[in-house]
Amino acid sequence: ADPITVEHLSAWLRHFAATVDERHEYLTELDSAIGDADHGVNMTRGMRAVVEKLDAGAPEFADDLFKAVGMALVSSVGGASGPLYGTFFLRLGTKAGHVSEVDASSFGQALRAGLEGVIARGKAEVGDKTMLDAMVPAVEAFERSAADGSGAATAADAAASASEEGRDATEPIVARKGRASYLGDRSVGHLDPGATSTAMLFRSLATALAA
Ligand code: ADP
Ligand code: MG
Ligand code: MG
Repeated sequence: ADPITVEHLSAWLRHFAATVDERHEYLTELDSAIGDADHGVNMTRGMRAVVEKLDAGAPEFADDLFKAVGMALVSSVGGASGPLYGTFFLRLGTKAGHVSEVDASSFGQALRAGLEGVIARGKAEVGDKTMLDAMVPAVEAFERSAADGSGAATAADAAASASEEGRDATEPIVARKGRASYLGDRSVGHLDPGATSTAMLFRSLATALAA
């Protein structure tokens, strides 16, 4: 199967930035129901900072690329999502290493390292109604698909579908982490904004790798 190139990875980030830009009102609307109505603004600001860095000269190696992305997110986003997504990309890049291409199973390991960074930082688990509800099933699906010998594009498509199911599963549950947890039972009946942006992240990966 074809490896994932750094160009694919840049295309992933640009696609995600464009999606977040397009859907920022929706993300903010979700956050206005159970948070402080800024998730769309936070993600847009962060991903615009990422695109500015890419426009200034996209790094040639995966570790440099994701380090730039993580730093841009951490430094430009004030909300909880900035450090969490920032950590995801920083760990992902460290694990992917100083390479210009990566195969599906190595990329699965890098996604796993990114996910573990989010867990270490946010101390949440699946079922707490956070971005992890979309990220954990996505990474598991990617790993499973890669272990079965699928190429990266197929694995990313499986990851995207799993993240969308995980996002949908946040609607009927009570939030136990982040701002939404202050609402207690009143958080029921709303999608989690961060799980929604994470599903966009994995759908963007599938789109970038299919091209
Ligand atoms: P803030 O809550 O600071 O305004 P955002 O609105 O940008 O930040 O992001 C909110 C999202 O962050 C939530 O919908 C949730 O998915 C995610 N989140 C919050 N706390 C945690 C945590 N401890 N672990 C994982 N994700 C979290
Ligand atoms: Mg918010
Ligand atoms: Mg906020």
